[in-house]
Amino acid sequence: MESNNLEASLADQHDILRSRLNQEGLRLTGPRKKILDLFVMTPDGEHLSAEDIHYQVTTKGGKISYSTIYRALHMMVDLGIMREVELAEERKYYELKTSLAKQHHHLVCVQCGEVHEFEDHRVTKASRQETLEHGFLLRDCQFTVYGICQTCQLSAL
Ligand SMILES: [Zn+2]
Ligand SMILES: [Zn+2]
Repeated sequence: MESNNLEASLADQHDILRSRLNQEGLRLTGPRKKILDLFVMTPDGEHLSAEDIHYQVTTKGGKISYSTIYRALHMMVDLGIMREVELAEERKYYELKTSLAKQHHHLVCVQCGEVHEFEDHRVTKASRQETLEHGFLLRDCQFTVYGICQTCQLSAL
């Protein structure tokens, strides 16, 4: 059951990406497919950096260069399939983009990097209102809250 669902969502994501790429005259190459699969298989609430992708592909015996990873990520962000999330200062993380209605935000521990995702329609509503007032088209909105988690607070005592 689980694996059927996973295969269905992998196939869906391939179709979405393939058709977006085709519109731009691009192809769904092996590395692009591999990177997309990693995101589809990543549990909800987890985010991947270029380093994570490189590690996951190479530990399974695959070969991929950082430049291939960066190019694929930027391309998928441009196509609106993925979004870059600001979770840490020193590293960029990525996740599959969901519809604006289901958009989530992040609460990040600045000490250990633990991330909680949350939904709040007020953030989306405020973004819509702001874009509307200035005649913008809403593409994405990110709301990141930085704090110190309970575990880190306790270990500082
Ligand atoms: Zn997220
Ligand atoms: Zn923490």
